[in-house]
Amino acid sequence: MRWKEQLLTLTPYQPGKSIDSVKRQYNLDQIVKLASNENPFGCSKKVLSALQSHEVGFAIYPDGYATNLRESLAAFLRVEQEELIFGNGSDNLIQIISRALLHPDASTVMAAPTFSQYKHNAVIEGAVIKEVPLVNGDHDLDGMLQAIDEKTNIVWLCSPNNPTGTYIPENNLVSFLDSVPPEVLVVLDEAYFEYAVAVDYYDSIVLTRKYQNLIVLRTFSKIYGLASLRIGYGVANPKIIAALEPAREPFNVSSFGQLAAVAALSDKEFVEECQMVNRKGLEQYYQFCEQNQLTYYPSQTNFILIDFNEDGDKVFQYLLERGYIVRSGKALGFPTSVRITVGSFEQNEGLLKVLKEFLRESRVEQHQGK
Ligand SMILES: *Cc1c(COP(=O)(O)O)cnc(C)c1O
Repeated sequence: MRWKEQLLTLTPYQPGKSIDSVKRQYNLDQIVKLASNENPFGCSKKVLSALQSHEVGFAIYPDGYATNLRESLAAFLRVEQEELIFGNGSDNLIQIISRALLHPDASTVMAAPTFSQYKHNAVIEGAVIKEVPLVNGDHDLDGMLQAIDEKTNIVWLCSPNNPTGTYIPENNLVSFLDSVPPEVLVVLDEAYFEYAVAVDYYDSIVLTRKYQNLIVLRTFSKIYGLASLRIGYGVANPKIIAALEPAREPFNVSSFGQLAAVAALSDKEFVEECQMVNRKGLEQYYQFCEQNQLTYYPSQTNFILIDFNEDGDKVFQYLLERGYIVRSGKALGFPTSVRITVGSFEQNEGLLKVLKEFLRESRVEQHQGK
C-alpha cells in the first residue's frame, strides 16, 4: 500500500478514558469523568422530549441541507441561512476546511498549544505547519501575523483556547483581523463561546459580516450537552460557505442530531443556568489554587488548567485510582499541569478533596527529600 507518507507519522486521537474501562480496571463503583469538557448536567429536557415524541425513520437518510435546524439557527443567530454550514461536530468542519484549502504547497498558521485537530488535519493534507507559541497562555497575534507568508491559506484561532481557557480580547482580535491579508481564511473556533463572560469578549457573528475572510465555528457538544450526537456549525459570509459546501459529505449530520439541536436552541434558560453554575464551579477551583499556591489560567470555559509543578501524568494517575478521570497536561503541551472539566458542585468538592490529599502526600515526600 502506498499510504500518504504523512499519515504514518500520526497516531489516532487519544480520547479521555471511558468510565467503564476505568471502573473495571480499578474496581471502583463510582467514576466521575471530568476529562472532555462535557456538560455535567447533560442536556435540556426539551431535547429529551423532542427526541421521544418525534418519529425518525431509521431507513431514511437525514436531511442533507438540515432545513429545520438551518431555519432555527439562522433565526437564533440573526443571520441568513446561506451564512451557515453544518458539521458532524465542529471536528468535521475543521476537516472540511482543511480539505478545501490545504495541500503540500500551502502553509497554515496556528498557536501552540491549542486544539489538536488543526494540526492533525493539516498534517494529513501535507501542508506546511507554522506553530506560534502562546505567550502566558494567550495567542501571540503579532507572532502569528508575522508567520503568515504568501502560501498561507488558513490561520486558526481558538478563543477561548483549549487547553488554557484564555480568550482573545476584542481589541486584539479586531486589529489582528484588520491586518490579515484578505485571501487568508481566519478560522475562529468558539467551542466554548456560551461559557464566556468577559466584558471585552467580542461578537464574532458581527465580525463575520465585517471580515469576508472569517469563519466562526461553534458546537452543540459543550454547553448544550449533545456531544454524542455530533452537531457543529460554521458561520461565515455566503461566498465562503458556498466554496466549502462541495467538500462536505452530503449527509454529515444525523436526523437525531438535527432534531436535538433545534430543541436545544429553544431552551435559553438551560444554557444560562449552566453558564452561571459553571462560573461558581470555577470559583471553587480558583479558591483551591490560591489556598495552595498553584498557578492556573483564568478560564472563560468549563475547564481549568492547573499547574502542579509535578509530572501531570502522576496527578492524573492519582486521581484516576480514586475515581476521577481528568486530562493530563502532558499530551496537551503542559507537562506539569492537568486539565479539569468543571463538574457539579459536589463533583468539584469530591475531586478537590482528593487533590488536597495528593498535595499533602507529595509535600511530605518532598520534605523527606524523596
Ligand atoms: C471540543 C472542541 C471541539 C470539537 O467539538 P465537536 O463539535 O464535538 O467536534 C472543537 N474545538 C475545540 C476547541 C474544542 O474544545
